Amino acid sequence: MSAASTSTSTPAAAAAAAPEPESRLVVRAPATGALLGEVAIDDAAAVRAKVAAARAAQLQWAHTPLAERARRVLGFRDVLVRSARELAGALERENGKTRVEALAMELTPSIDAITYFARRAEQLLAPQPIPLHLYKHRKSYLHFVPRGVVGVISAWNFPLSIPTIEAAMAALAGNAAVVKPSEVTPLVMLEVKRLWDASGMPPDLLQIVNGRGATGAALVEAGIDMCIFTGSTATGRRVAAACGERLIPCVLELGGKAPAIVCADADLERTANALVWGAFANSGQVCASVERVYVHASVHDELCSRILAKTRKLRQGDPAAGGDVDVGAMTWERQLTHVEELVARAQAAGAKILLGGRRRPGVGQFYEPTVLTDCKQDMDIMRREIFGPVLPIMKVDSEEQALSLANDSQLGLLGYVFTRDKKKGRRLAERLEAGTVMVNDVLATFGAPETPWAGLKQSGLGRTHSDDGLRDMCQTRHVNHDRLALARDPWWYPYSQKVFERSLKLLRLLYRPR
Ligand code: NDP
Repeated sequence: MSAASTSTSTPAAAAAAAPEPESRLVVRAPATGALLGEVAIDDAAAVRAKVAAARAAQLQWAHTPLAERARRVLGFRDVLVRSARELAGALERENGKTRVEALAMELTPSIDAITYFARRAEQLLAPQPIPLHLYKHRKSYLHFVPRGVVGVISAWNFPLSIPTIEAAMAALAGNAAVVKPSEVTPLVMLEVKRLWDASGMPPDLLQIVNGRGATGAALVEAGIDMCIFTGSTATGRRVAAACGERLIPCVLELGGKAPAIVCADADLERTANALVWGAFANSGQVCASVERVYVHASVHDELCSRILAKTRKLRQGDPAAGGDVDVGAMTWERQLTHVEELVARAQAAGAKILLGGRRRPGVGQFYEPTVLTDCKQDMDIMRREIFGPVLPIMKVDSEEQALSLANDSQLGLLGYVFTRDKKKGRRLAERLEAGTVMVNDVLATFGAPETPWAGLKQSGLGRTHSDDGLRDMCQTRHVNHDRLALARDPWWYPYSQKVFERSLKLLRLLYRPR
């Protein structure tokens, strides 16, 4: 787990801080501290047994024609659509996000991605010819073979969408999936598994293993054929090393520190709306959250006052209590403590708290939406992932300065540019060191399954989503076959001086020096 030590300043915090039993996970509602359930931990032997069961199911599933796989995965999709209200409620309770966020940021992207890939899988995974420019007497093509069992290890901030999309994509590609949810939010994937089984998908094709880090480590060791990991950079490194030891491919979706560059010519109303949503949605617990703003001095004050006015209107509270709420609870007590510490250090170093800057008094794990100005690049708040509802703002003199500060980071997942000048927006976007850059928008491309989701630098390796992301779930095999059947190729035996001279002549003819 990323983040710092446990605090005991509220009843919910005290409950969360109580020692956890060895053999099970105790799950509490972050908004109230109420007990939601307990889940048995899978030890290494149980993990191996589930991987073996998944493999047995996969061997049959791989022979199911793609059109049939797609039809059945769409059946699972239908059950998700029918159960969307209940799933949103489960997310609200266990994760602390609002029901609108549960729908907009978890269920809709999952349902849309499954629909997109199910409709396109047959075409995307069909053999792909490779035109050969020299070997005209032969032909090549790629064909895509399921890898086998895909291990999916996921984080607590999007406990439904990330593992559900990966599991469905794995199944479309002919694989089984074994999902290890975060210990903080294990319940919702058990609900998804129940719906998977009810939908007519082969039950053993999706397995859930629950537990702490040791269960994730056991999954990587249990004979899986690929690992898709979402979590912190520190754990990602350990997972990559373990996958390297076994020589299995791994995709790493790690932390982010998304900068937003606000140019002097930005539409300030849209920019303020985007930044407020981009920083506080999901209580800021999004790898793509706006984590630092570099705003041109000429519009700094105006932008800050718009951001302030909009943030003041946000309603925070228990999303499951019945009323309308914009900002929910923070999912994990330890993350809240980490946010408190970062803000305190920023304030001590000279940042000004315009709004918020504290844990909300009373029950539950809430941190007030917080706006900071006078931030400096060397503050931890501008360098380390916050992963909480905090918007740090820094004034800059030019777009070039903003760009160089934005790129001065170990992380490179998302980046944002705000300007009315479309050409300039694209030029700046192309120079930002991030896997995805959005101009005049934030967060949203996670919901566009056609586009890749991939981090640069220490934000990740490989990609999920996108047509290539589906193909990555297969072994890409190359077949080269004859077009014209010659008795022998010109470079075969016997060798001679004559063959050498003839080959040299041909070489100089083909690649005539300029
Ligand atoms: P962690 O790295 O702490 O945990 C991620 C998962 O790995 C959890 O299921 C965890 O289990 C498991 N795990 C822990 N140790 C090991 C191990 N040695 N081997 C295998 N698995 C292990 O991350 P968080 O859960 O705290 O998630 C927050 C982070 O995730 C943030 O940095 C965020 O930016 C990032 N993230 C990135 C996304 C992206 O798409 N790039 C999307 C969402 C989040 P357990 O929880 O039980 O310890």
